Amino acid sequence: MGLLSVALFSALMVFLSQAPSPAQQPAPTPPLASPSLPSRPEGVSGSASPFGAPTQQAGLNVVVLDPAHGGTDPGARGTGGIRESEIVLDFVIQVRRALELQGFQVVQTRQGNENPSFDDRSATANAQRGAVFVTLHISSTGLPGTVRVYVNSDLPPVADSNGLIPWDRAQAPFLGLSRTFGDLVQGLLAQRFKGSPETVETASVRQLRTTAAPAIAVEISSVTVEDRADLDRMAPGVADAIARGAATFKPSYVIPSSPKALP
Ligand SMILES: [Zn+2]
Repeated sequence: MGLLSVALFSALMVFLSQAPSPAQQPAPTPPLASPSLPSRPEGVSGSASPFGAPTQQAGLNVVVLDPAHGGTDPGARGTGGIRESEIVLDFVIQVRRALELQGFQVVQTRQGNENPSFDDRSATANAQRGAVFVTLHISSTGLPGTVRVYVNSDLPPVADSNGLIPWDRAQAPFLGLSRTFGDLVQGLLAQRFKGSPETVETASVRQLRTTAAPAIAVEISSVTVEDRADLDRMAPGVADAIARGAATFKPSYVIPSSPKALP
């Protein structure tokens, strides 16, 4: 699809600013679009779209980082007492620094050992304007020292009679952009971590499904290493790949500047 149509994006944002109906969202209602949207960074100038459309606001300003698990959910656990929830938080600190050096604003779904729900984490991303979303995991499988990037499997964009997209299909309009972003990051990871795939893979990732932004899951192998230093030394390379991937992706992500797109 390339770029979203203004109409579709506006409809989506309007919809996401409303609470999902009980039929679509049986889980507790997530806190939707925050009233305090981040201010746009200084110095962001308009750029022409690849299709030669009129100049629009460059879209990507914010990267939402999601250290998966946390709180009562430690995630995968290794034999040496390694907890996925702790390691992803350490990784996120380094990813955040690398992104900020590239000029991005970074928002985290958790700062410490909390465990926000899937919907809370998606809501954090969906409240941003011009964001991409990256959820980080440490797997219990896979060749140690490799990294895989996933995008959500195809989701039929089931629009209701008003053309609005349900909360649990929020990712559908963004899948093409997610794949572009994911391929960029995966390609950089493959250069750094031999044995990693060259291109992004698809999986049914619950966290990505409700996220209305280009969204990827980055999975680092693995918690089975004997010494957690083996994982720690991967963090700079992972951080660099995500930051450079986001910077390379930025020009291809243009969102409408129409105020109607704002909740
Ligand atoms: Zn995980």
